[in-house]
Amino acid sequence: MASPFRVHPTPYVQVRRSWVADYEIGERRQELETPTMRRLKPLLAPWSSLICVDTIDRVMALTFDDGPDPELTPSVLDALAAEGARATFFMLSATARRHPALARRVAAEGHEIALHGVVHERSTELPLTRAAARLRQGKEELEDVVGQEIRLFRPTYGAIRMGLLLQARRLGLETVIWSAWARDWLGDPPEEVAERAYVARHPGAVVLLHDIVGAEAGPRPLSSPETVPLLLDKLRPEGWRYLTVGQLTARYPHIRCHWFLPPGKSRPNGAPAEPGRAA
Ligand SMILES: [Zn+2]
Repeated sequence: MASPFRVHPTPYVQVRRSWVADYEIGERRQELETPTMRRLKPLLAPWSSLICVDTIDRVMALTFDDGPDPELTPSVLDALAAEGARATFFMLSATARRHPALARRVAAEGHEIALHGVVHERSTELPLTRAAARLRQGKEELEDVVGQEIRLFRPTYGAIRMGLLLQARRLGLETVIWSAWARDWLGDPPEEVAERAYVARHPGAVVLLHDIVGAEAGPRPLSSPETVPLLLDKLRPEGWRYLTVGQLTARYPHIRCHWFLPPGKSRPNGAPAEPGRAA
């Protein structure tokens, strides 16, 4: 069992929570690199989660949450294959168990399999021992389906609590949030969703999308098979490379967020903050 207090070996930039929780298109990151924060960094590292990476290279990680979904995941895979792109799929283990062949196809096509949870429940509302047990259960179930070790975890709704962050570390899981989103759960036309994701792009981005629609989605995120091809079409002239989160984090310094620190009072662009929505 890995120590949850192991200091992350990669040098990283600390950012304010509001950059993530209230992320809006066009915002810049709010760094926390004060002399005090720099001194505290080794102690704070276990309580941080990955947001994106620090680079000027045109690379990004496309991430898909809540799948695999027989109605949508195959078309996402086809679009990614046509582009030669690798992506990261944060799966629900119960859903992966219902569609094991599809989960294994995602892995077989070179994409990264990561854990989103057992089901789409708000783990912050469960007792910590229960939430920690669910995390272990999800990891074991997903590993059982895809036959490989799971190293990345994104909490449902992006809802972080300290105890779960440490439990994830104990299980050898890196907690990953995101730095750009398209709000693809609102049911807007795919052109609009693709445009939002396009405008939010930045070097080193971790982009939040969903590969879920129809029966598997229920009242939750509603995506479209047209969104990913439209987004890739927009990005193609700019020469972006699409890496998995694992590849991105192995190659570039991390940008990380400490969740126990209060968010900034306003967004970096000076606009007042509003409650964040998440995946
Ligand atoms: Zn989700």
